Amino acid sequence: MINEKLADEDVTLRPTVVEVDLSRISANLAAIRSRAKGKKVMCILKANAYGHGLIKIAQHLESLGADYFGVAYLEEGIMLRRDGITTPILVMGGIIGNQIPHFIEYDLTITASSVDKLQQIEATAQEMNKKARVHLKIDTGMERIGMHYYSAERLIEAASIVSDVQIEGIFSHFANADEVDQSYTEMQMKRFKKVLQLLPKYNLDIPLIHIANSGGLLQISSEQYSMVRAGLLLYGVYPAAHLRKKIEVKPALSWKTRVVFFKVVKPGHPVSYGSTWQSDEMIRVVTLPVGYGDGYMRSMSNKAMVIINGQKYHNVGNICMDQLMINIKWGTAYNGDAVILIGEQAGNMISVEDLAEWAGTIPYEILTNINTRVPRVYK
Ligand SMILES: *Cc1c(COP(=O)(O)O)cnc(C)c1O
Repeated sequence: MINEKLADEDVTLRPTVVEVDLSRISANLAAIRSRAKGKKVMCILKANAYGHGLIKIAQHLESLGADYFGVAYLEEGIMLRRDGITTPILVMGGIIGNQIPHFIEYDLTITASSVDKLQQIEATAQEMNKKARVHLKIDTGMERIGMHYYSAERLIEAASIVSDVQIEGIFSHFANADEVDQSYTEMQMKRFKKVLQLLPKYNLDIPLIHIANSGGLLQISSEQYSMVRAGLLLYGVYPAAHLRKKIEVKPALSWKTRVVFFKVVKPGHPVSYGSTWQSDEMIRVVTLPVGYGDGYMRSMSNKAMVIINGQKYHNVGNICMDQLMINIKWGTAYNGDAVILIGEQAGNMISVEDLAEWAGTIPYEILTNINTRVPRVYK
């Protein structure tokens, strides 16, 4: 990884950077906390903290007193622990048996998604003479991982007889929380509630109960149980346009580069691989040192816009691995001029949502695709 070999001061040698405004993360967390009305907030840090940089974001959130962290994979949890993060961490993804000792060693909370997994965790904890901490995962309609709501009683019964596993939490996950139509979400809530009603029968008192992701937090104003899991919203991006009004968050990430080449292109001289675009008049074209190898997705070719000197301009020709071309028509731009790929300049803005639309995807994929070869700088 290039980033680790470059000293901090060398990072600016690359004109393409992701800039993260930590004060916006703080403000977003505050907005989420107030929406969650005193319930705990699990800050989701998977996929390099949605592209914002795992360790820096974790350190910042820990300094703000985050209640819990959530990651997808064991490795992400281990990275956090090796960097000295002490906040509780739930690994939300499915597990494989030989990973269990590492969870216990690094004090990571394990997702138990079946009776079999729970028993494996118990056996490993006994062998290691340590306690494991677990959240039970109930599938209420996502069909990804978890014990189906209609057979969840078996998992709950198994959870009531373990001795070396602390059942700290129980959770489920919404499949359609960002939709306008909330009937599926409501059905999932009902299924989850029925499962929770089984707990007293087995004398289980589970302190952390959670189901809402960003969409769920915005859609549902009651019934947030004891914790919400906030990912996208923490980074200041809304899961869907119709959810914008519910609380105010602001994007923490901007993506910037600089002009590295300027030229005039004659009519009938196509630009880039595949010759997908040409002008019918003389125009000025600049080249930027960023491409799909950085996560600036090729599917945005001939659609994406950037801001140069306060003006929005179109990408022309196919986006290359490391470079792309911008038609500035008869505008001016010099080598070294700042270019905004995501962010604001002079009252103009390009959002993560804009890129998602050009690429035909969702904001999550835009953020998590920004490659680690793009240096992250923090302010
Ligand atoms: C990613 C994830 C979240 C966070 O989702 P957002 O929509 O980004 O808030 C919450 N829970 C689980 C299980 C996840 O995988």
